[in-house]
Amino acid sequence: MDCIKLLPDNIANQIAAGEVVQRPASVIKELMENALDAKATNIKVLIKDGGSTLIQIIDNGIGMSTTDARMCWERHATSKINHAEDLFKLRSFGFRGEALASIAAIAHVEMKTKRAEDQVGTFIKIEGSKVVEQSAVATNNGTQFSIKNLFYNVPARRNFLKSMAVEMRHIIDEFVRVAVPHNEISFSLFNNDKEVFILNACSPETRIAEILGKKNANDFLKVGETHDLLNVGGFIGKPEIAKRTRGEQFLFVNKRFIKDGYLNHAIVNAFDNLITKDQFPTYVLFLETDPSHIDINIHPTKTEIKFDDERSVYSLVKSAVKKSLGGYASMPELDFENAFIFNSHTTTENPKFGNISVPEPRVNKGFNPFQTEQKTWKSVQNSQWQKIFENEYLNKNLNVRVEPAQQIVNINTENIVFYDYFSLPDGYIAAVLIGNLIVVDQRAAHEKILQEKYLQNIQKHTATIQQLLFPRTLELSSNDYNLALELLDDLKELGFDVADFGNNCMIINGVPSETIKGSEKELFEGIIESFKNNNSNFNTNKKRALALALAQNEAIFRTKTLEKPEIKSLLENLFKCENPSTRENGKPVFIEINQEKIINFFK
Ligand code: ADP
Ligand code: MG
Repeated sequence: MDCIKLLPDNIANQIAAGEVVQRPASVIKELMENALDAKATNIKVLIKDGGSTLIQIIDNGIGMSTTDARMCWERHATSKINHAEDLFKLRSFGFRGEALASIAAIAHVEMKTKRAEDQVGTFIKIEGSKVVEQSAVATNNGTQFSIKNLFYNVPARRNFLKSMAVEMRHIIDEFVRVAVPHNEISFSLFNNDKEVFILNACSPETRIAEILGKKNANDFLKVGETHDLLNVGGFIGKPEIAKRTRGEQFLFVNKRFIKDGYLNHAIVNAFDNLITKDQFPTYVLFLETDPSHIDINIHPTKTEIKFDDERSVYSLVKSAVKKSLGGYASMPELDFENAFIFNSHTTTENPKFGNISVPEPRVNKGFNPFQTEQKTWKSVQNSQWQKIFENEYLNKNLNVRVEPAQQIVNINTENIVFYDYFSLPDGYIAAVLIGNLIVVDQRAAHEKILQEKYLQNIQKHTATIQQLLFPRTLELSSNDYNLALELLDDLKELGFDVADFGNNCMIINGVPSETIKGSEKELFEGIIESFKNNNSNFNTNKKRALALALAQNEAIFRTKTLEKPEIKSLLENLFKCENPSTRENGKPVFIEINQEKIINFFK
C-alpha cells in the first residue's frame, strides 16, 4: 500500500507559519514590510493586548485588485518576483509569498483593500486558511489588515506567548527596525489605544533622535563613505554615550534590519580602546549595496544575509567608523597619568580652564594607579590562572585532574579554618585549609556572596533603600523602558526606588543602600543589561537573574588587590553561602586540590 500523500494546503500553510510567524511581532514585521513594498507613505499599527487579541495595520499604498485580494493568500503567491534571477535583483522586502498564507492559517483575518483606480474596494474574511466572506466595500485607497486571535488553532504557540509587556517589547523592536531606515514615511504605533510612537516623515537624523530618545544631536557623529562595492552611511554615538546596555545597535543593509555578529565586530573594533569592554557603542548604520552582492534568501525571516565579499565589507565598515571617530581615535585612553598632565597643562598655560573637572576614567573600577605593573583586562585574559579556571590547564599541562569544587565535596563548610591565604596575580586567591589547597576566583566569589544576599533581600523583603538627595531621571530605549516597567516591583524589592516618568524615562529616587556610591544611572543601566543577559543565558528565574544582575555590577574586579583581612572576610562569607562552589553559568567559584591529588602528583 502506498503511504505518501500531499498535505492539504491549510496544513502545509500552518507548518510554514511555524517558521515565519513566531509571535505577534513577526506579523507586524511582515505586514509593515508588505506596506512598504506597496509604496505606502503612511503606515499605522494598532495593537490590543500585546498583539494576541488584535493587530491592525493600515496603509495608504497601491492596494490590490479583487483578483489579487483573493490570490494573495495562496502560498507562493507574490507580485514581487517572476524569475529565479530576480532573487539577485531584489529591492522589495518580500518575495517568498508566504507571509499572508502563513498568517491566514493561524489567525482570524480580515482585509479591506482598494486601488486608486477602482471605485470600490474588496473585503475578505479568512479563518484557518478558508475564505468565509468576500464582498465589495467602500474603503480608502490602500490596504487594511486586521489579525485577530493569533494562534487560536495552535495551542502550543498560543500558550508559549509571554506576558503582554514582553510581546510588546518584541513588537516595538520590529516596528523600530522598519521605521528607522524609512524616515520619508510616517508611522504610528498604538497599544490599547495608547500612543507608543507617532513619527512623521522627517530627516534621517530626526527619525533616529525620535526613536533613540536622544535630545542632543551632539551625541552623534555622522558616518559617510562611498565605495564601488558598498556605501556606508548613518550615525555612531560618541564614545562617551556608549552604554552599559546593548540595544541601540542597528545595522541595515538596503534598509533591511540585519543581525550580523561579524560586522558588529568590525564596528566595535573600530572604537578600539575608546570604550571599555563592558560598554556597547551606539550605532545606526545604513549599508547600501547592489542586490547582486547579497543573498537575502538564507533565513525565513530574512534577518541574516550573506555578502559575496564579506571581508571587504568588514574592512569598509570598520574604516568608515574609524574615520568618523576621527579626532577621537587619536585621543589617548584616559588614565590617571594623562588626566594629570591634562590638568597641569591647562592650569599653567590656560589659567581660565584651570578648574576643568578631570573626566572620570572609564576604565575598570579596580584600577590601582599605585600598582607598579598595571593590569588590564587583556592581561587577565591571558593569564595562566584564568586557564586553570577553564579547567584545562592543569589537565593538559601538568597531567593533574583539577575538578571543579562541586564535584569533590571534601570541604566542610560549617567550621572552616584557613591556615593561610594570600593573593595570587590576576585576581585569584590561594587558601590552605585542612588537607586542601583551594584557588578562588575573587570576583566570582564576591559575586556569589552578593547574589545570595540580594536574593535574600528580595525574598524576605529586607532590602534597605538609600534615598537620593537629587532624584535622577534616566532615558532608556523603548525596549529597556518596557523591561524596567515589567521589573518595577522586583526592583523595589531589590532596594531601588524607581518610578515611571513616561516617555521612555524612569526616575530614580533611591538605590539599594549596600551599593557602592557612584553613578546611579550607570548602575541602573548595568542592571537592566545584565538582567537581559542572565535571563536569556541561564535557566533561572526572574528574581535570581535580578539578584545576580546587581551582584555582577557590584562585585569587585579581578584587578583589585585585596588586603589580608579582606581576603579572610571574603573566604568566610563565601563558605557561608548556600552553594559556594558554582556560579550561575556553571563555572566554578573555586577549584580544590586535595591532599590525595597532591600526593599522587609527586608519585
Ligand atoms: P510577499 O511579500 O513575499 O510577496 P506576502 O504573502 O507577504 O508575500 O504577500 C503576497 C502578495 O500580496 C504580495 O506580493 C503583494 O502583491 C500583495 N500584498 C500584500 N500586502 C499588501 C499591501 N499591504 N498592499 C498591497 N499589496 C499587498
Ligand atoms: Mg510579504
